[in-house]
Amino acid sequence: MKILAVGRNYSGHIKELNNSQSEDPVIFMKPDTALLKNNNPFYHPSWSSNIQYEVELVLKIGKEGKSIAEKFASNYIDGIGVGIDFTARDLQNKLKDNGLPWTLAKGFNDSAPVSDFVPITEFSDLKNISFSLLKNGQEVQHGNSSDMIHHIEKIIAFISQYITLKKGDLIFTGTPEGVGPIAIGDKLEAFLQGKLMLETEIK
Ligand code: MG
Repeated sequence: MKILAVGRNYSGHIKELNNSQSEDPVIFMKPDTALLKNNNPFYHPSWSSNIQYEVELVLKIGKEGKSIAEKFASNYIDGIGVGIDFTARDLQNKLKDNGLPWTLAKGFNDSAPVSDFVPITEFSDLKNISFSLLKNGQEVQHGNSSDMIHHIEKIIAFISQYITLKKGDLIFTGTPEGVGPIAIGDKLEAFLQGKLMLETEIK
């Protein structure tokens, strides 16, 4: 399986990082070794002093497809969950300044905690899905798919023009504003439609 991710998909987050909005979605990947499941703890790597959380809706692909039309895109989603796109912001900024790929800043071990997935049939409107993140019991991020610059069906249509999607692939769909650093001892809890779906302790 592969993990694809969308960057800069909420205007509030683009502003907080002083990034510019692009016409097409910004796409990057994480290796399968980035996956962190079953609410396992996240071990803070020693090579970064600024790992940041980014809570995101995550799509799980249910069948293979390429060049998928937007109107059929939802047929390719098996379920939706929440995930955290852990980002080594210090390393990412250094790479960005030099015009280099983000791979190591986004794809390091365990940088993609994900929840279980809610079947797609349980969502009546893909453009109204809420999610949030608590750090040590306090809400630090909340978002809704209605605020996406590139909505869920467009993301699937866009990526599948270039990269064939396969059953089991995951797509992180971008983070709203409120990203921030984690420290050893922190506890993160991610909610989907008000329900606790994912928790991880920083060790
Ligand atoms: Mg992200």
